[in-house]
Amino acid sequence: MSVIERNVKELLSELPDGVELVAAAKTRQPEEVLEAVKAGIKIVGENYVQEAEKAYAVVGRRVKWHLIGSLQKNKVKKAVELFDMIESLDSVAIAAEIDRRCAQIGKVMPVLIEINSGKEARKSGVLPEDTEKLVREVLSLSNLKVMGLMTMGPAGAEAGALRPCFIETKRVFEKIKRLNLPGVEMKYLSMGMSDSYRIAIEEGANMIRLGTRIFGERGCQPSFHLSAVPTQERQPLSRN
Ligand SMILES: *Cc1c(COP(=O)(O)O)cnc(C)c1O
Repeated sequence: MSVIERNVKELLSELPDGVELVAAAKTRQPEEVLEAVKAGIKIVGENYVQEAEKAYAVVGRRVKWHLIGSLQKNKVKKAVELFDMIESLDSVAIAAEIDRRCAQIGKVMPVLIEINSGKEARKSGVLPEDTEKLVREVLSLSNLKVMGLMTMGPAGAEAGALRPCFIETKRVFEKIKRLNLPGVEMKYLSMGMSDSYRIAIEEGANMIRLGTRIFGERGCQPSFHLSAVPTQERQPLSRN
């Protein structure tokens, strides 16, 4: 059994019922993603549209594809064609573009609103206090469906330091859920990564996004480097 296969099987047997596992595939080779899928992964999370296209060419529609990285306007057309969910929506301008592009292909895109729960400067996500406003703006766009919230928490924080961020995100989630806004279905709370998923689940996550725990440490694969991607096609490195 390969390491990836063993990791996926261990995780799937460990996770409580009702918690969806997203394999966070950034920097991984399509073949590694395929291996994870063959071991039982049902959702692949991608940060970059271009990387997603490469993996999609190998893996295809046998899994769901989630965008978990920030989206630029000029990538929205491709993104709405490829992805089954956008977990990282944090601006009304991008929401409007998603709506326009979805209308062209007759698709309704499920979205999660990304919360900057650590309230870091220069980070993706809306502040907790601005979340309801964005949800209300998005619900008027008929080709998007708000289905929950996603958060990362502060980069590089100890797992324990993330707990308050998860608690805050869950609080906002419940608050918006209670509003019963038309067309809004608060179903998914996507939080927790390899170091923090147990804590996230304790605090109410029902979707977790794991990269390292499935594929191993990033940056030690000799075969893929961002530098191998032509500069004009690179997405900005919005995550670190
Ligand atoms: C990379 C990434 C993950 C997974 O991180 P790991 O620590 O490798 O599990 C989850 N979510 C997002 C948005 C990411 O960019």
